[in-house]
Amino acid sequence: MLFFYNIMNIAEHIQNIKSKLPQTVALIAVSKTKPISDIIEAYRAGQRIFAENRVQEMTQKYEQLPKDIEWHLIGHLQTNKVKLIANFVSLIHSVDSVSLLKEIDKQAKKCNRIINVLLQFYIAKEETKFGFDDNEAMQMLESDDYKSLKNIQICGVMGMATYTDDEKTVADEFTNLNEIFQRLKKNYFATTNAFKEISMGMSGDYETAIKCGSTMVRIGSLIFGSRY
Ligand SMILES: *Cc1c(COP(=O)(O)O)cnc(C)c1O
Repeated sequence: MLFFYNIMNIAEHIQNIKSKLPQTVALIAVSKTKPISDIIEAYRAGQRIFAENRVQEMTQKYEQLPKDIEWHLIGHLQTNKVKLIANFVSLIHSVDSVSLLKEIDKQAKKCNRIINVLLQFYIAKEETKFGFDDNEAMQMLESDDYKSLKNIQICGVMGMATYTDDEKTVADEFTNLNEIFQRLKKNYFATTNAFKEISMGMSGDYETAIKCGSTMVRIGSLIFGSRY
């Protein structure tokens, strides 16, 4: 009788995924719930961008790990927690309201920084996902409130597809996000070089996301194993 073990280690998982990514697509290693030792293993394999979905966990890991790591926040962010990450976060993928954007600006200013963010869009069929829709985003980008913010930089968009095996549904949703990105670029960011990122694709759908124009894939379980 044969047993099939998953004998690859974290470094090999990273090399394997990277071999499938075009040069233009960044690998964001999603280390949520995983121990420091796993992150160090990935770091030794050359990985420098890690993402967490909880503020407290990200802060603790930041304090214990090398300072050349870029920390990305990918989960829903409560306004009262922004101040805990404002001094070190590299990119917040999950901006889903004007009030959150204003708070990020306020805390960034206190740290004398400009914080890079992505606007999260609601593209899935599922009811529970956070994010803007097209109109809400346009309203915000045209508001004086937004135009007065000096300490945030919007670098692109982020979205999560419906959790399904149906590749066509997922591809349609990612294509929709790409079209949203193109519209925003044309209407509001045509001369903003920093507005260039489309964060889409996770362990189960990143190859589809790349076909649809992703520039950042957020991969957890394929690198570190399932989270149970
Ligand atoms: C957990 C998470 C991921 C990674 O999920 P995997 O399926 O483990 O790759 C990506 N994006 C977000 C927003 C997440 O919360």
